Amino acid sequence: MGRKFFVGGNWKCNGTAEEVKKIVTTLNEAKVPGEDVVEVVVSPPFVFLPVVKGLLRPDFHVSAQNCWVRKGGAYTGEVSAEMLVNLGIPWVIIGHSERRQLLQESNEFVGDKVAYALSQGLKVIACIGETLEQREAGTTMTVVAEQTKAIADKISNWDNVVLAYEPVWAIGTGKVATPAQAQEVHADLRKWIHSNVSAEVAASVRIIYGGLSIVLVLGGSVNGGNCKELAAQPDVDGFLVGGASLKPEFVDIINSAT
Ligand code: PGA
Repeated sequence: MGRKFFVGGNWKCNGTAEEVKKIVTTLNEAKVPGEDVVEVVVSPPFVFLPVVKGLLRPDFHVSAQNCWVRKGGAYTGEVSAEMLVNLGIPWVIIGHSERRQLLQESNEFVGDKVAYALSQGLKVIACIGETLEQREAGTTMTVVAEQTKAIADKISNWDNVVLAYEPVWAIGTGKVATPAQAQEVHADLRKWIHSNVSAEVAASVRIIYGGLSIVLVLGGSVNGGNCKELAAQPDVDGFLVGGASLKPEFVDIINSAT
């Protein structure tokens, strides 16, 4: 069974109403493979979700960058999964390393959030990844396995989950995993899922790579560079793109699948 290539654009906490419209116009005019070949999902900040959803071409989809861990209520400043569903937002990113690090989201909290979002009918881009210290200490697989286990412990159906492996040291830092480094972790993760979840989920779950903006900054050409080579790795099923998803180069990344 083939795993459809997935390209997510994580806009993080960026943009004005005008800039957001400009990005959407660029995406709407882009020539990309059909939805049957690449699934494209862009993730603007909450406040821009309705406008992006309204303007975006129908073959691209939108995602929130976070949602609350349980049913909405007296949780000032939070946005619930139910609200996203109510607005027709199909996807949510959960457990991004910036939230794990800056907002102290624990593995357990992330697992609970993934489970709750799925229970409400959202599809989830669940993020995992090790820090530089953890990689240098040789604990990469231990760390990502623990993060994945905290999710696996809370869910029984992986159909609506995309796993984003984003080494923290590669996110907007000037470093990028080599295709071999990414492939190694993705393959190990798939093995872990095979042993700890099921052979079916291991075969079907998409594991996408995040942390490649710098490839664009340094390399200039996506098509000839690391991006295409990363996309060609057997266990790399797509990308979660940060900085570059705000730029026209995002279109080249979408096209790196083919
Ligand atoms: P980057 O970030 O592409 O800017 O490195 C990826 C992410 O944080 O999702």
